[in-house]
Amino acid sequence: MSPQLARLETRKDQLQEFVELAAAHGRSAAGTGQVSIQVPALGSVPATKFGMAVATIDGDVLTTGDATEQFSIQSLSKLFALCALLQRDPSAWEHIGWGPTDSGYGSVAELERNHGRPRNPFVNSGALVVTDRLMDLTGDAVGATIDLLTTTSGDTSINSDARVALSESVADHRNAAIAHVLAEHGKLVNGIDRVLTQYFAQCAVAASAQTVAKAALFLADRSAEQEILDGASARRVNAVLLMSGMYGAAGDIAYRIGLPAKSGIGGGVLAIMPGLGTVCVWSPPLDDDGNSAGGVAAIEEFARLAGWSVF
Ligand code: GLU
Repeated sequence: MSPQLARLETRKDQLQEFVELAAAHGRSAAGTGQVSIQVPALGSVPATKFGMAVATIDGDVLTTGDATEQFSIQSLSKLFALCALLQRDPSAWEHIGWGPTDSGYGSVAELERNHGRPRNPFVNSGALVVTDRLMDLTGDAVGATIDLLTTTSGDTSINSDARVALSESVADHRNAAIAHVLAEHGKLVNGIDRVLTQYFAQCAVAASAQTVAKAALFLADRSAEQEILDGASARRVNAVLLMSGMYGAAGDIAYRIGLPAKSGIGGGVLAIMPGLGTVCVWSPPLDDDGNSAGGVAAIEEFARLAGWSVF
């Protein structure tokens, strides 16, 4: 074995050890959270599930626990739908905004105050506009989102779970209200019902932590060979993730961890370390901010051990 290869192997062993230590940390923090029942079908997912995956731009993938089991990616899908839209229309920001919010990700009041203009693509109004625009450009926002996840991860088993999508559509009045406010202000190209149906199906996409970590690598890859998204768009996406990817806790996460990150109510959290790699954790119980309690704790510990921070 060449000295260079030996060094890489040592680095890989060390990262695997960090993943195991971080996962132990995350597993114990998971006990402080509650599994979300906002989408009723997700309420029965076992609280003890825990999967973690780290993917590096050198091509290593380190995993532990339930890292290859699919979970409902929910709001993580907003990130991939946004990137699928930016691939086709890098100027789409003008429709969705990019600033932080202090009003929560489902605020109708904030949308009203801003005359129907979303604050950013990760609040629900912005995500609905992303879905609507992506539908307009592709005819199938869910298909385009799944295509991006599949192409980037190589995982061909990614699908939208119709049972989860139906469960949300029956119970969800808030997203319907937001869609109506958007439509009132002329911000939707397609009909409200079609947009909501596509949005619920997009949130119901199921993928594993390993798949999500691999799929998001293009956001960490600063090399010229990265062909998924142009460099300016990738930098902007990371900036908006840092400010707005973690619901009301974005500032707290920037302070504690210092990585652009996105979470979803299915218990998934993804963090990006530009230039190095990605880490995704799935642990269903959520903290008071709506972020995976175990996921945040595990990523915080991994970032500390590995020295990952953008600051
Ligand atoms: N489908 C959920 C909603 O739109 C996703 C919420 C989330 O993961 O933040 O409310």
